[in-house]
Amino acid sequence: MTGPSPMARNLSNSAPVILIGGGFSGLTTALALSRFKNRPPILVIEPRRKFVFSPLLYELLSGELKKWEIAPTYESLLTPKGIALIQERVTKIDPSSQTVETSSGLKVAFSYLIIGTGSELEDFGIKGVKEYALKFQSLEDVCTLRKLVTSLKQSTESSKVLTVVGAGPTGVELACKLADLLKGAAKIQLIELGGKILASSKAFNREQAEKALTKRSIMVNLYTKVIEITANEIKVESNSSYKKVVSSFIHNGVIWTAGTKPVVPLFTNLSVSQKNRISINSCLQVQGFKNILALGDAALNKENDWPLTAQVAIQQGESAAQTVMALRAGKVPSSFKFNDLGEMLSLGLGEATITGMGLTISGPLAFQIRRMAYLTRLPVLSLGLKSASAWLLDS
Ligand SMILES: Cc1cc2nc3c(=O)[nH]c(=O)nc-3n(C[C@H](O)[C@H](O)[C@H](O)COP(=O)(O)OP(=O)(O)OC[C@H]3O[C@@H](n4cnc5c(N)ncnc54)[C@H](O)[C@@H]3O)c2cc1C
Repeated sequence: MTGPSPMARNLSNSAPVILIGGGFSGLTTALALSRFKNRPPILVIEPRRKFVFSPLLYELLSGELKKWEIAPTYESLLTPKGIALIQERVTKIDPSSQTVETSSGLKVAFSYLIIGTGSELEDFGIKGVKEYALKFQSLEDVCTLRKLVTSLKQSTESSKVLTVVGAGPTGVELACKLADLLKGAAKIQLIELGGKILASSKAFNREQAEKALTKRSIMVNLYTKVIEITANEIKVESNSSYKKVVSSFIHNGVIWTAGTKPVVPLFTNLSVSQKNRISINSCLQVQGFKNILALGDAALNKENDWPLTAQVAIQQGESAAQTVMALRAGKVPSSFKFNDLGEMLSLGLGEATITGMGLTISGPLAFQIRRMAYLTRLPVLSLGLKSASAWLLDS
């Protein structure tokens, strides 16, 4: 492993620890570092104004939660903790001079760098996905989808179909919520390339999800590959009885949840894995750089292919803060160990399924436990408590 350059050694304890990206991994690292008594200066560089608690985006879509409950501003999260914020995008990292450059051309020196740039939609080069499919990742996406739901409910057109591509957690959770919101105003179709829904989920959650989809008459097309999307048509290739059949359906909206790819900022000498994620060792350090760490969806450790979840990103954030503090004190950092807390899925209005935390449960009680578990986990405790009490008062 390459040690820090001479400049790096000079800078090591006075320049800030820089977090690129204030998502689950970056924000957790920043907040965890701020809790140390002998904390370093901390700087978060993040283009968005608000942190988004993505597991609760479905509840924002349905109106079961409000924007302020799941999307606090970075200012409210960081300023009280004495963490500096630059609301820009990092465009370049230079490990030799230990600087990062931002979209406005600003150059900032770092002592330690944490990359938590997450992932973005992957269209696999399929024609029309970028142009015609909707995403479900941000507050803006929720807004767009809400408008679509309203217009479908108001439209007098017959046989409307809303298509969700990808039957992973996001696709399944979204399909159930949309069906409940649409109340029969449009049919929901779920398209999946593989042979089952929720391929990486626990069996109990998959069974509950299958029941939830059936209950809502959601059509599930397995072994089906999208080959092209246009403004009102979706062309698919299905594998039935060992025969490939190409067909087209009319759609009134397509939501793409079929894949993500890592967001990797420009980086000199970056070691990238086969999956194009940043290669890290078990202490979350980027291969070849002692004082640069990469976390969450953007990083990959070959020996441990941790899932791309907020749960992993949060735990890595806590571990990264420990690693930085150990390195600053000249100590050897500990390896990151993932503690799988299980899986919680939202399945329509007021329903969920949980396998984890010692529970195997589905239905309205699971919905309430899931909501409570997430809201109290929001990064600012005061906001979390406010949200929890809002929910208690609601019910
Ligand atoms: C709808 C939805 C539901 C989900 N539900 C769950 C769930 O129930 N449970 C679960 O565990 N996981 C869930 N996930 C997955 C989870 O959100 C991700 O795994 C997690 O956010 C990854 O954390 P991260 O820190 O790697 O990246 P993110 O949280 O995505 O943060 C990346 C941040 O980096 C910023 N950024 C990107 N490029 C730059 C740059 N060049 N310069 C500066 N900043 C940059 C972005 O603006 C963003 O804020 C869900 C995801 C979605 C979209």
